Amino acid sequence: MSSGNDIKFIDVVRVLESIEATTQRTVMAKLLSSLLKKSPPDVIDKVIYFILGQLRPDWEGVELGVAEKFTFRSIANATGASVKQVEDLYKKLGDIGETAKRIMSSKPQQGGGKSILDFFGGGGGEELTMGKVYDTLMSIARASGEGAQDTKVKLLTYLFSRAKPEEAKYIARFVIGKLRLGVADMTILDALSDAYKVPRDALERAYHIYPDLGYIAKMVAREGQNALAKIHVTPGVPIQPMLAERLSTASEILAKLGGVAMVEYKYDGERAQVHRTRDGEVRIFSRRLENITYAYPDVAEYVKEAIDAKEFIVEGEIIAIDPDTGEFRPFQELMHRKRKHDIKEAMKEYPVNIFLFDTMYVDGQDLTNLPLIDRKRKLLEILKPSDYVHLATWRVINDAEELDKFFHEAISDGCEGVMCKSIKADSVYEMGARGWLWIKYKRDYRSELTDTLDLVVVGAFWGRGKRAGAYGALLIAAYDPKTDQFYTVSKVGSGFTDEDLVKLKQMLDPYRIPHRHPRVVSKMEPDVWFVPAVVLEIIGAEITLSPLHTCCMGTVRPDVGLAIRFPRFTGRYRTDKSPEQATTVDEILEMYRGQKKVKIEEGANP
Ligand code: ATP
Repeated sequence: MSSGNDIKFIDVVRVLESIEATTQRTVMAKLLSSLLKKSPPDVIDKVIYFILGQLRPDWEGVELGVAEKFTFRSIANATGASVKQVEDLYKKLGDIGETAKRIMSSKPQQGGGKSILDFFGGGGGEELTMGKVYDTLMSIARASGEGAQDTKVKLLTYLFSRAKPEEAKYIARFVIGKLRLGVADMTILDALSDAYKVPRDALERAYHIYPDLGYIAKMVAREGQNALAKIHVTPGVPIQPMLAERLSTASEILAKLGGVAMVEYKYDGERAQVHRTRDGEVRIFSRRLENITYAYPDVAEYVKEAIDAKEFIVEGEIIAIDPDTGEFRPFQELMHRKRKHDIKEAMKEYPVNIFLFDTMYVDGQDLTNLPLIDRKRKLLEILKPSDYVHLATWRVINDAEELDKFFHEAISDGCEGVMCKSIKADSVYEMGARGWLWIKYKRDYRSELTDTLDLVVVGAFWGRGKRAGAYGALLIAAYDPKTDQFYTVSKVGSGFTDEDLVKLKQMLDPYRIPHRHPRVVSKMEPDVWFVPAVVLEIIGAEITLSPLHTCCMGTVRPDVGLAIRFPRFTGRYRTDKSPEQATTVDEILEMYRGQKKVKIEEGANP
């Protein structure tokens, strides 16, 4: 049905094909904006979720739950091809979308397709609409219990038997989670702003409070900008975390914060936003706003018991701990918690504690606009610390020597350093912003090396000799939120173990594309291009000027960008970060300038 409330699925697909073909960010943005403009309010959310390759915002954790082999079976059922034919073609092409498209184009739609149409009340040859596709996918996700796999296959067969070959291509990719368009939340915000003439910052504010682009788009498409005022901080819905800047000396930090700061231990674990909703449900969200309650059911229980409030949002760091000694264990141990099965065993083997440092909402009151001291006071009021839930160690400090002393205490207690936070009247909880209200002071800054950077893999060069068949070096990039693009900063080939090389190939290959992605700005031509998706932690000797890289091109000197000298992979895969949460080009510029300043100071006082 293609009525005024819906949009033909083929119209969405045509736009996706054009997006896939372009290497221009501006073309991509225009295509998205015009698609959103012509999407009726009833389905604009569905269009957006589909483009992002999800059914609901990530934090709701709605999954289709269709294994690859069931996708093969559904394509086979819908076309009359055999499962083996589908599998063989997939092996050859390496892309489920192309596989589905080719099989659909070459086979008359018959066999299973017919009976399936009967099952759903007859064929009728109606065209697929976005609403129909989305609702069917949602029914697939919801099918559970006995016979769920059969129902899922039937519903998917139904979709494929209705789909045109191009439509089948995107449905198949969506189903196995490989849409690979590289359209990010920020790209959608730009497009929405352009399509509905709503200021970008108003949209972004709403998105920080309520990160559900489908919901925001629907409100805006229906009521315009005024609708955004109705969006509030809501327990159960994650807010974008406040982020910290960095500096490398205690005196600089105090000067920046007005001479005095609340200094807290900086724990090295996993950031956690813990929510309790009105009906008593506790949800834990990660730094990336994913629902990670399944990994930490114990933390959910501990926090619920330790906090005396009906509804709340508190924030802290989850740390792996040695229960015998109380000592902290390396953050890598938390990885063992990220499994859906045998979580009880993992809980026993890898016990954790949580250290709370902030609170953003308590019993009907949004605290994000209050200064830090007031938020802390509220946290002290509602928290009864236990063996598992602690208050982050803190002290108010106005002296650089004392700050350094506290920093060393933090390190000897197993922390990474300290977080220095403003206590001035304007020290609100700045959602989604990296500002100077919070400044991190880490051990790394004190060594010769600069801080570690979290960078996005945008391309790769084939390895030689021992590394033949693997990627020998990766082209990595920093993010620029102003342009929503990625700018290269280095080619990194060291720090990878043999295991890493295998793992990286597996991680990166689903994102391979035949040309540079429109959101990547590069002067280098790697052997292989990727959709920006995988984030790695990199350490380098220093930031240098380079004509080869596009990061901050022309900012310091004409036609010259910034690059990382002697880059090395630290072994840390930042799966907790989306590419848009990678180190930004401005941060790299800041580091470059900071480093120059240190050199000048050192030169002056040899
Ligand atoms: P980002 O600043 O983007 O989070 P990152 O993950 O590389 O970058 P770090 O350099 O480790 O961050 O510093 C920030 C992180 O430190 C926070 O996201 C949080 O997980 C952690 N953290 C530990 N202790 C505290 C604390 N007392 N206050 C705030 N954050 C803390």
